[in-house]
Amino acid sequence: MNIGIDVDEVLVEHLDAFLDYHNYTYGTKIQKKDMFSYSFEKVIGETEQDTRKKLLHFFKTDFFHNMKPIAGAREAIALLAKEHQLSAITARPSVLLEQTEQLIATQFPYFSNITLTNQWHGVGKKISKSEVCIEKKITIMVDDSLTHAMDCASRGIHVLLADFGYPWNQTPELPENIKRVHSWKQIVDEVERYGRSNRTGKTKKV
Ligand SMILES: [Mg+2]
Repeated sequence: MNIGIDVDEVLVEHLDAFLDYHNYTYGTKIQKKDMFSYSFEKVIGETEQDTRKKLLHFFKTDFFHNMKPIAGAREAIALLAKEHQLSAITARPSVLLEQTEQLIATQFPYFSNITLTNQWHGVGKKISKSEVCIEKKITIMVDDSLTHAMDCASRGIHVLLADFGYPWNQTPELPENIKRVHSWKQIVDEVERYGRSNRTGKTKKV
């Protein structure tokens, strides 16, 4: 199968790195559990422009360059890559292309391609994750964002919604083609299960 995989909060702890940067630089004490929204400006109560400025500075710091992989992600990606084609699909701004390619090449050297959809704090052309999924014939998309999950699910893509204790993607109900998952082990299991049931479905039709 072709599997699409988001980068921030799915492969790497981007938010932890940003909060460390912010708490260190501005003397705040914001924790991940406070992030009821992934839009930082909403959580802290500032303008989008203020947050954008902070992010652009953060991208140049060691906090950004030394962000840690999510627990179990490296092993799981290596395992999935044995049987599937993996595409990294991230909403990161285009200015982070080089850093993102370097991150994937060094920490997760198993991806066939990387796409930045430029959807947050980015100037220039934006593309939705579902459009990328359609173009790359993605069967399963793994993402922590409810917005991207709903976007992809609405185009018939099976979505695994990464929830590693993430307040920002909570919701009372999910469409049937979005499955909430709580660990990389569960993601690997769900991919296998989906692959099996898909094969069975095809056999039955023949
Ligand atoms: Mg993400």
